[in-house]
Amino acid sequence: MRGRAIERVTTVVIGAGHAGLAASHFLGDRSIDHVVLERGEVANSWRRERWDSLRLLTPNWQSRLPGHRYDGPDPDGYMTMGEVIEFIERFAKVSDAPVRTGVDVTSVRRAGDGYHVTTSGGEIRCRTVVIASGACNRPTVPPFGDAVPASVEQLTPFDYRGPDGLPDGGVLVVGASATGVQLAAELRRSGRPVTLSAGEQVRLPRTYRGRDVLWWMDASGLWDQRYDEVDDLTRARRLPSPQLVGAPERTTLDLNALMSMGVEPVGRWAAVRDGRALFSGGLRNVFSLADLKMNRLLDTFDEWARTHGRDAEVAPPERFAPTRVPESTRLRLDLRGGEIAAIVWATGFRPDYGWLDVPVVDEKGRLRHEGGVVDSPGLYALGLPVLRRRKSTFIYGIEDDAREVVDHLARHLAVRP
Ligand SMILES: Cc1cc2nc3c(=O)[nH]c(=O)nc-3n(C[C@H](O)[C@H](O)[C@H](O)COP(=O)(O)OP(=O)(O)OC[C@H]3O[C@@H](n4cnc5c(N)ncnc54)[C@H](O)[C@@H]3O)c2cc1C
Repeated sequence: MRGRAIERVTTVVIGAGHAGLAASHFLGDRSIDHVVLERGEVANSWRRERWDSLRLLTPNWQSRLPGHRYDGPDPDGYMTMGEVIEFIERFAKVSDAPVRTGVDVTSVRRAGDGYHVTTSGGEIRCRTVVIASGACNRPTVPPFGDAVPASVEQLTPFDYRGPDGLPDGGVLVVGASATGVQLAAELRRSGRPVTLSAGEQVRLPRTYRGRDVLWWMDASGLWDQRYDEVDDLTRARRLPSPQLVGAPERTTLDLNALMSMGVEPVGRWAAVRDGRALFSGGLRNVFSLADLKMNRLLDTFDEWARTHGRDAEVAPPERFAPTRVPESTRLRLDLRGGEIAAIVWATGFRPDYGWLDVPVVDEKGRLRHEGGVVDSPGLYALGLPVLRRRKSTFIYGIEDDAREVVDHLARHLAVRP
């Protein structure tokens, strides 16, 4: 890079997913000059890191970005990956975002009263940086994955495209959040024996009292709950995604549905010993906790409908059958015996800040921030779980967060012009 001019710009936004583009929208509104740096293409995560059959689990009417919303014929449907990419690309075009694609940010460090950004395309000096590089850059795999016998193929949701990519035979899906239940169902439908290792889970019906459950989350104000009102913020930020699928038939995909399809549940995977997977017992407790929490949530919805005079516009309250507990569940599974040909780790995702040379990442790899205001002046973040509200990681949640974070950024610039 020696000898190359250093470009100067007021704000660098890292990432051209919906979060970075929303930041760009509000920066543009305030005439703050900026660039959006993207190592791949616009909506790169949806293009490269998701499986083929995935649809959004949020209904189309919730696909809403600043000044840009779904206006097609099926507001209650769920977008395919192609539709999501198109939706986000269109947003980049209509908001005229200054995106530079194919530019990898390799370092951000403090310099003077701002930051020095090193990229695959050159050096940039800026006053402020918005980190919108995503919350799900790397799949999480427990360390005992290394002890799985080599004869068993291991995949993460980043490698998985569809059942055809897996060797013939049984599959052990690990994790019962949105990703795990969706992949377990798809693999089972392809005719394979599927075992699902289920730890903590968030059970939700797809529809409740005739409305999409996410309509209730929104209308009742639950999704708008702010980060500084949440009782246990650390926990809220680590909660698994809900057991939901965006199927056109609006089906519920909980453990009961999966067991009816023939998926075998086992407890949380605790260790590998001598080529055997060891699972925790206590599935009964795990299931009853998920049922209890779901019922509490439905109680909250009912209470909201009653106290806000909305009872007449929705169907009567309903309750769902408790999760069935199998008479006995296996506590171990021999991974050398040929029963399991592949393991799919649906054990969550984490961000990657390997390029961030500012000491704002804690020992668990999480960014230290207060509602997106990172612990270093002029550094901001968007798109992380419960960043400013419960809905923060969803497409639907970015508008309010991005507006407020850019407000803060503008004040920062105004105080020290
Ligand atoms: C499996 C799955 C299903 C989901 N389903 C839904 C859903 O149904 N509805 C919903 O609303 N949300 C859903 N989400 C959550 C969320 O909308 C997505 O994670 C979304 O991609 C987050 O948007 P983002 O802009 O914050 O990050 P991303 O879309 O991940 O964008 C970050 C961008 O930054 C780029 N980048 C990263 N590092 C660098 C770097 N060093 N230099 C340059 N560029 C970089 C990446 O290439 C990427 O394009 C889902 C998430 C996952 C993982």
